[in-house]
Amino acid sequence: MWLAWCGVAICLVSMGAVAPGHAEASRSHVLVLFENNRLLPANVLGDRGVTSALGEADRRTEISTEFLDYPRFSGAAYVGTVTRFLKEKYAARPPGVIIVAGDNALDFVLNTRAELFPQVPVVHVGVARSFLASRPPLPEDVVGVPFAQDFAGTIAQALKWHPQARHLVLITGAAEHDREWEQDLRRASEGFDGRVSIEMLAGRPMAEVLKRVAELGTDTVVVTPGFFRDGAGSIYIPVESVRLIAQAATAPVYGPFVTFIGTGVVGGWMTSFEAMGREGGSIANRLLDGQAASFLRLPQVMPSALHVDWRQIERWGIDPDAVPADAVIQFRAPGFWQTYQKEAMAVALAFLLQSLLLAALLFERHRRRLAQSSVDRYRFELAHASRLAVAGELTGSIAHEINQPLAAILSNAAAAELMLESGAARPGELKDILADIRRDDLRASEVIRRLRALLAKHEVERQSFDLNDILGDVIALLNAEARRRRIALSARLVVETITVAGDRIQLQQVLINLVMNAMDALADTPEEQRNVVLSLEGSATGATIRVRDRGHGITAEHLPKLFESFFTTKRKGIGLGLSIARTLVEAHGGTIAAESVPGEGAIFTIWLPRVASGGRAWVGAT
Ligand code: ADP
Repeated sequence: MWLAWCGVAICLVSMGAVAPGHAEASRSHVLVLFENNRLLPANVLGDRGVTSALGEADRRTEISTEFLDYPRFSGAAYVGTVTRFLKEKYAARPPGVIIVAGDNALDFVLNTRAELFPQVPVVHVGVARSFLASRPPLPEDVVGVPFAQDFAGTIAQALKWHPQARHLVLITGAAEHDREWEQDLRRASEGFDGRVSIEMLAGRPMAEVLKRVAELGTDTVVVTPGFFRDGAGSIYIPVESVRLIAQAATAPVYGPFVTFIGTGVVGGWMTSFEAMGREGGSIANRLLDGQAASFLRLPQVMPSALHVDWRQIERWGIDPDAVPADAVIQFRAPGFWQTYQKEAMAVALAFLLQSLLLAALLFERHRRRLAQSSVDRYRFELAHASRLAVAGELTGSIAHEINQPLAAILSNAAAAELMLESGAARPGELKDILADIRRDDLRASEVIRRLRALLAKHEVERQSFDLNDILGDVIALLNAEARRRRIALSARLVVETITVAGDRIQLQQVLINLVMNAMDALADTPEEQRNVVLSLEGSATGATIRVRDRGHGITAEHLPKLFESFFTTKRKGIGLGLSIARTLVEAHGGTIAAESVPGEGAIFTIWLPRVASGGRAWVGAT
């Protein structure tokens, strides 16, 4: 092919179409000359590569781009016209480097450069190694990295993926370039001759080609570089012809150009046009920087890679595992992970945060429970200590209360002894004496039982009980003390049963505390006015217990502080009784409050929720 263009150039020179005299070449101006038309996909990709590589240089490079529009326009007259046009166009602004894209663009420039752009170095891109091999060596200042159309590699790959294939169909066109590809294809397929039968569809009309490929079976593979002109003279660009072939074919189609991916071909060993463009651009950069073309160290050939269209891999049932890991795969529908990566990450993150939050909350709850249980334990210990303290205060009266029945027992026993000694003992009288002894004994042991119940370090219990009984117990426990202090202690109970749920000893303790405080407040009250009254009152939902005294009362200033820990106005007071009382009452779901008219006494009111027997008003302290 290059010979034809050479002829054109000689013609141009001899015609004197190129005028001598040139402006100086600009070191920042690159002319890119494409062989075909502007929108050929290979050109679009190549242009992108050239532009990006030139853009990486420190200098600002001006890029001019021209398209020879082969093979639609050709012939000596056309070449002459283009040459004149380019000469005039760039006369005032000649390029510092020319990049030619494609075999025929290289030919064009080689044949016209002496007249058009003498001494301007030329970089070739997208030129086949086989094309260079078929012609004399290039001048020293014409450099580039050729690509190798790996037809043999593509055929081998196709037969590997279709082991059942028995036929290989090769298709090329009728243009000069197509004929070169035909030779390449023939050479490449020689090695497979024994394994498959080879059918060469070269220079046939497109209609015939399409008819033939529509008859093929799955025991056939098609390999084609496409073509520029068919046997009927119709002009195509390779990618267009391949698209038509792949759409009509009933067998898988393979090809050697990256731009074929997406037309329906399965794939092939291909060199990226963009990579070719980049390589050309970076060589141009070095030339513009002043490096001599003959000193450049360049690779022998552009690397190629296996490119595939994943949809075709699936369509033809090719084993996905047989696709090498380094293959360039296009049109693979992203998996769930790729498609929803962000969403999945967000969900996973939310899940993780939620789990962490949950763990933190559980940990916090656990800590709170531990804290609660130690608070309960301290409260329990404190309540017990406070009961011991009360018992300490009651020692005198309790001793008296036990002594009384013991003394009575002693005197009854002495009386019975005398009766027996005198021989005047009558069985009836002795029986009465023994009954008195038993009653006194029961009285003493009842005092001890109550005291033991109060002082025992029992675990907190939940029972239902009648508040009347609690008040009765308190009166019984404190009666002796009240008598000792010359105080009238009385209780106003009610006939109905008022059931509350909780720990009876704790409620007893609360009331003992209130009564002891009331008795303390009566110390300076005239004897005839010293009285403490416990009263009980029931309502639909609860029970109210009041402890009223006629003591010195509480000042307005002290009233709000009563239930604070360690608030006391007594010389030997500790100030914990009322704060413990409030804790215990609240643990039973109740409330406690104080009111007073100073000088006239105080009233402490406890409200507790009332339950049906076995009810559930107990709220804590376990
Ligand atoms: P303490 O008895 O050790 O002082 P409390 O917490 O039981 O601790 O009582 C706190 C204070 O409340 C008492 O010091 C007293 O000033 C006041 N108080 C309690 N009950 C009465 C009452 N019935 N009349 C007057 N003051 C009272």
